[in-house]
Order: sequence, then structure tokens, then C-alpha cells
Amino acid sequence: MKVCVIGAGAAGAVASIFLARGGASVVLVEKNEKIGKKLYITGKGRCNVTNDCEVQEFLSNVVRGEKYLRSAIYGFTPQDAMAFFEGLGVPLMVERGNRVFPLSEKSSDIIRALADEIARLGVDLKLNCEVKEIRKAKSGFEVLTPWEKIECDKVVVATGGISYASTGSTGDGYAFAKSFGHDIVEPKQALCPLLVAENVSSLQGISLKNVNLSAYDKEGNLITSEFGEMMFTARGITGPIVLTTSSYINRKDGIKLVVDLKPALDEKTLDARILRDFDGRKNQDLKNVTRALLPERLNLYVLKVAGLKESKKVNEVTKEERKRLVDTIKNLPFTCSGLAPFAEAVVTSGGVSLKDLKPTGESKLADGLYFVGETVDVDALTGGFNLQLAYATAVCCARDVLKTKE
Ligand SMILES: Cc1cc2nc3c(=O)[nH]c(=O)nc-3n(C[C@H](O)[C@H](O)[C@H](O)COP(=O)(O)OP(=O)(O)OC[C@H]3O[C@@H](n4cnc5c(N)ncnc54)[C@H](O)[C@@H]3O)c2cc1C
Repeated sequence: MKVCVIGAGAAGAVASIFLARGGASVVLVEKNEKIGKKLYITGKGRCNVTNDCEVQEFLSNVVRGEKYLRSAIYGFTPQDAMAFFEGLGVPLMVERGNRVFPLSEKSSDIIRALADEIARLGVDLKLNCEVKEIRKAKSGFEVLTPWEKIECDKVVVATGGISYASTGSTGDGYAFAKSFGHDIVEPKQALCPLLVAENVSSLQGISLKNVNLSAYDKEGNLITSEFGEMMFTARGITGPIVLTTSSYINRKDGIKLVVDLKPALDEKTLDARILRDFDGRKNQDLKNVTRALLPERLNLYVLKVAGLKESKKVNEVTKEERKRLVDTIKNLPFTCSGLAPFAEAVVTSGGVSLKDLKPTGESKLADGLYFVGETVDVDALTGGFNLQLAYATAVCCARDVLKTKE
């Protein structure tokens, strides 16, 4: 049986290896000059290859498609992924939060191991070769590139989403899916920085640890609340808790963001702390006292939002004004005005709709046509979960294809 796999990212490379190991004749077509261009930049070049957690925990980190991914992930768990890479000669290590990295801390080692295995198995790898169209033939399919027509029994589309398009993920899989009648769930940026309506340019570069970011919908319902690190950009916010928040709010308008700058202190304790700081400094400017609580530029920003003059003398601050200060530090408000562009989004949410896919990734509209990895409407949080879902869907598809081996 001949299978054409389109796209040599994480999903396409792993699908090709499992198909070839199972005896299929595999053609792997990649439009870039090398495989795994996106893999190369993962985990800041260290590649957070998976997350060494139980399946249930993996599923709780899936944002879209948790039900759909269930069978795939039980069939190829994070521990299976670790055994797979170690079997390819890449020693791994587990860090904080069960994040798994190659011991060498080099994503290039992961890519090299996949490339070596692809070569060892005799997969026909066609680089610099962009698939333009997939056609249904009398029996099987025809995959059209500018140079040739590849005839095959089955096709696996592993072309990724539309994030970081410079790596080759330009959404071609959506066009292929549409040509067979599939719906595409509107792609949205996920795991991305957020833009805010307020002018935060004076805060650019300030990094905050141990803060709490909450997001509320138009009706004031809490959508998500994340504790950890964030940073200010010229037009918004970024950092781990912001990326996570973005994945939960990317399909909603009118989101209000609230930062608790001192989550460890409740209002009463914070007020007592401020009163203590005021003690003995009655004739000083307010800003010189509150700066013990917050980074310099943020201190000035907070005073402004609280409606307090920075040069006000401490002994002139009323109880009501102190309450406003406490309130602002505990609930610094921002209006989310949008998501950073796809070029800055770690993953794409949306894609080929799950409603016309079997859990194996096979199309319900065209037998023998499969969709795997990020091109499908599934996405997860940071921590190695997105790569894991790419391999799991790839392996699940490969096993299904191999079942019908003739
Ligand atoms: C900066 C960054 C860091 C990340 N870090 C991590 C991390 O540490 N851990 C983690 O789990 N996830 C991480 N991710 C997410 C993860 O990289 C992706 O979810 C994953 O790579 C998706 O794999 P894929 O194979 O589905 O798609 P891709 O990796 O996007 O691969 C698709 C491939 O298809 C090729 N292609 C597209 N169209 C065609 C065509 N018409 N013809 C031929 N070839 C085509 C592309 O060139 C590309 O090589 C990160 C993402 C980014 C952007």
C-alpha cells in the first residue's frame, strides 16, 4: 500500500515513521528545504518534546478537542512518546511541571533523530516540494505538486495551522479539506500575547512574578484565572499566564482583564501594610512610599489609575483614597482589544472541523483521506501538550491506515 504524507512537521514525520515501520510504502512531501522547521524553534530551541503526565492530566490541558483526542492519546501516551524518542537514541530529561526536553537541550537532536529514522526506513522524502492539490482518483488519490502527480492509496494531511507561517505552516490543509467538502472552524490565534485598549507603553518591558490574571466576559462571568508570570509589551501583555488566558478567550469579544498585583495579601492585610509604610513618612510624596510595593513605572501607572496625584503628601491621603489604592493594586483593570497576530501565536485554534472526522483522523467524506496534528480543530496549553497531540493523532492515523493493508 502506498501512502502520501503531506507535511514533514512533528505529525507528518511521526506518521511516516509508524506507517513505514508497519510496512507501507511512504512518500513524505515537504515544501521546505528540510524537515521540522517549526520543531526547530520549539521550547526556545530546546524542544519541550512532551509532558510526562498521566492521560487524564494531559486531557485537562487540552483546550479544544478533548473528547476527540481521547482514543488517540490513550493509544500513544506521553510515556510512549518518551520511549519512542529514547528508542531513536535521544536521551531525555524531565523538568518542572513534567516538561520533557532532550538531555542535550537541542531541538536539532529531535529533528535529526526523526530524519535518520525516516531515511533508515526508506521513506521517499521529497523536499522543496509543495503540494497544490489532492484529487480523488478511481482508486485512491492523486497528489499534485508543481513537478509531478503522486498516485497513492491513502493521503495523510499534516500541514499544520497558520501560526508562525515562516516555518511553512500556511494553512494549506484547510484548502485541501475544503476541496473534499470539509468545514473549517475559523482559525484563531492561541497561546499568544494580548493587546489592551489602555496605553501601557510606559510599562513596556516590566516583568511581574506571582501575580494573578483573571479574564471576565461581557456579562462579568469569570472565564479563567491564572497565577504566575506576565510581562508588559508596547501595546499589551504577554508571558506564561497571558498565553494560557489567550487560549480561553480567543473566541470572545469584550473581555475585561484584571491583574491582582499582590495575590498573597488580602485587602485588609495590604491596607495594613500600606499604613505601616505611611508611618513616619507623613511629609513624603505618595509615590516615594508606594514604590516599595511596586516596580517604579508600574507604581506611577497604578497611582494614576487610582486617581491619586503622585506628589500628594502621605498625610493628605484620605481613608477613601487609600481604599482606592488598595482596590487598584488588587484589581488593575485592562480591556482586551485583541489578540497578537498569528505570527506571534504559538498555536492555531480551529481548523478542520471534528464533526466530519473519525477519531482516527479519517475523513467521513472521503475514505482514505486523513488529517492529523495542528491542522485539525484541536489545541492545548503550553508544556509539551501540543507536540504530544501531534504525535498521538499521527500514530492513531498510521495504525488505522495499516489495518487496511493490502
Ligand atoms: C515558537 C513556538 C514554540 C513552540 N514550542 C512548543 C513546545 O516546546 N512544545 C510543544 O508541545 N509545542 C510547541 N509549539 C507548538 C508545536 O510546535 C506545534 O503544535 C506542532 O509543531 C504542530 O505540528 P504539525 O506537524 O501539526 O505542524 P507543523 O509543525 O506546522 O508542520 C507542518 C509542515 O507541513 C508543511 N507544509 C505545509 N503546507 C504544505 C504543502 N502544501 N506541501 C508540503 N508541505 C507543506 C510545512 O512546511 C511544515 O513543515 C511551539 C510552537 C511555536 C510556534
